[in-house]
Amino acid sequence: MIRVHKFGGASVKDEQAIRNMADIVKSLEGRNVVVVSAMGKTTNAMEAVVRSQWEEDGKAIGLLNDILEKHKEISLALMPDSDPSWIDELAKDVIRFMEDNRSSEYTFIYDQIVSLGEQLSTTLIYNYLSDQEIDCEWLDIRRLFTTDRAYTEAKINWEKTSDKVLKYFSEEESQLIITQGFLGSTPEGFTTTLGREGSDYTAAVLGYCLDAESVNIYKDVPGVLNSDPKQFEDAVLMPKISFLEAIEMSFYGAKVIHPKTIKPLQNKEIPFFVKSFVDPESPGTEISNRGEMPSLPPVIVFREKQVLVSFAVKDFSFVGAENLSLIYKALADQRLHLNMSYNGAISFSVCLDNKVSKIKALIEELKDEFDIKLEEGLELLTIRHYDEDTIQRFLPGRKVILEERTDEVVQLLLRQR
Ligand code: ASP
Ligand code: MG
Repeated sequence: MIRVHKFGGASVKDEQAIRNMADIVKSLEGRNVVVVSAMGKTTNAMEAVVRSQWEEDGKAIGLLNDILEKHKEISLALMPDSDPSWIDELAKDVIRFMEDNRSSEYTFIYDQIVSLGEQLSTTLIYNYLSDQEIDCEWLDIRRLFTTDRAYTEAKINWEKTSDKVLKYFSEEESQLIITQGFLGSTPEGFTTTLGREGSDYTAAVLGYCLDAESVNIYKDVPGVLNSDPKQFEDAVLMPKISFLEAIEMSFYGAKVIHPKTIKPLQNKEIPFFVKSFVDPESPGTEISNRGEMPSLPPVIVFREKQVLVSFAVKDFSFVGAENLSLIYKALADQRLHLNMSYNGAISFSVCLDNKVSKIKALIEELKDEFDIKLEEGLELLTIRHYDEDTIQRFLPGRKVILEERTDEVVQLLLRQR
């Protein structure tokens, strides 16, 4: 059996973080595959390189060099006697691509360049682990993850990927494999990326293909909490939640784990652990369906900057399915997620995140059909497993303007008084 581990950007952001990560990896038993993101904010920095390259403002190579320098510094801090020239060597292909590229497809260019972040981080970490005499292999995940050609949001070809993953892992003897998150490749061998924050998904895909014993994600929080600790000091850790609970939480806007990541693991019932990278011994949160499920505290998702858009039918007829289908189509066209809705006699209201340009386009699309009103600055409170005490905490100083309740979930749209 093999276990999959994933370290995000924050957990490998500098010398200290990488030492900490290496300690965790050293303590692993049995066979393990370790998926690593680009270091810290490297992907954002690589995106700036892409923009510069696109705008031909002459700064792209300079920006890239800053990123390479930073990796050299960290590499030398970890291994003072080593030669960091491998970093320039590794960047050569990307630099050549930047010089020679003739494609005018932004997303294609993006993937060929941005992917250097994960190659740098995993090579640096592989070198450091080897320097620490930890026996491991470096794997270029692009050899195994075959995707379509939807650059920047590529879809995995499950059949091809799973064949290649199984073949590689049956032939490879190493007990510890270090590889990149976020990356894949087209059948022609061009690099693709799986969408921002895609490394969790890489870990899930590997877990699924390998029938892993578990998938473990290390984060800067102790696990999955019942609310955002940046908003609520009394946030508590939930030691165990079901796959469905995790999917529901993220549907309502909790920053847990993307449903796309949960789904493959749920399908094969592979337990999924969210752990703290500063305290890896503590159990964190188990997301699975096995064993007994503890009862859960109220799970609170509190979203600010909400907008209520109301559509009234111009001729005072009722809002029927036909009108609704126009509104839903316009929402889909703008890829707007409906946070809450209310269907009245002559108007239909939707609560949305305040995505200004998309909402403008939505109104533009529907203004001939409906009289449209807009209220900004609202708050949306969602509580799963609610109780009255938790609801009451939010009511002073606020007016409830919409409310929806099921057995499990209450949603209140709030206006500050
Ligand atoms: N490095 C990529 C990003 O920052 C992927 C990841 O971290 O999951 O989006
Ligand atoms: Mg990340």
